[in-house]
Amino acid sequence: MSEALLRERVVATARRMNALGINNGASGNVSARVEGGFLVTPSGIPYDALAAADVVHVSLSGHATGHREPSSEWRFHRDIYAKRPEAGAVVHTHSAFATTLACLERPIPAFHYEVAFAGGADIRCAPYHSFGTQALSDAALAALEGRRACLLAHHGVIAFGADLDDALRLADKVEALSRLYWQAIQVAEPARLDDAEMARTVERFRHYGPRVGEA
Ligand code: 13P
Ligand code: ZN
Repeated sequence: MSEALLRERVVATARRMNALGINNGASGNVSARVEGGFLVTPSGIPYDALAAADVVHVSLSGHATGHREPSSEWRFHRDIYAKRPEAGAVVHTHSAFATTLACLERPIPAFHYEVAFAGGADIRCAPYHSFGTQALSDAALAALEGRRACLLAHHGVIAFGADLDDALRLADKVEALSRLYWQAIQVAEPARLDDAEMARTVERFRHYGPRVGEA
């Protein structure tokens, strides 16, 4: 895919966050991998006002090229591309239910089989660090070990995938699961599925759903 088309797709993905109801003002950011770096949404610009030319190129060494400032969270986008070769796109949101759990510093446990969609038996919550810092990125990368999504305490969510559709689908799934978990704990702490069942479900999800680029 050409860089021009990928810029359009980054903007379209950011706008779809609004349509899905998983965005919150100008918060959150979206990126897609390119050779030697990634394309990322600019800092602080509402998605409705975004144009493809506002998308910033950042190299894996952290050098930004463009007429806007890159997302303040370029460090965790960069570190995911550097350390997770399977990542082709990253979506960060402050979606309401996931962020509610994150504010309570609560990971999402194995209360529903679809938690395995993120790659493991739970979706961890990384400890709080100021937005845009290397410390936040380091904490996020640790929470993402063996997973494609995590919560960020007192902040939001990170989800990544093979491409933009895949990453957005997971960010939306994390929000849906967070809502269910939140609803459940109003009544009681739900029972957990055991590790063996979650491991089997992780395996089944490897072959489930549209292949990359299809949906
Ligand atoms: P940016 O607008 O700089 O991408 O920041 C939004 C955000 O969510 C910070 O964590
Ligand atoms: Zn954020």
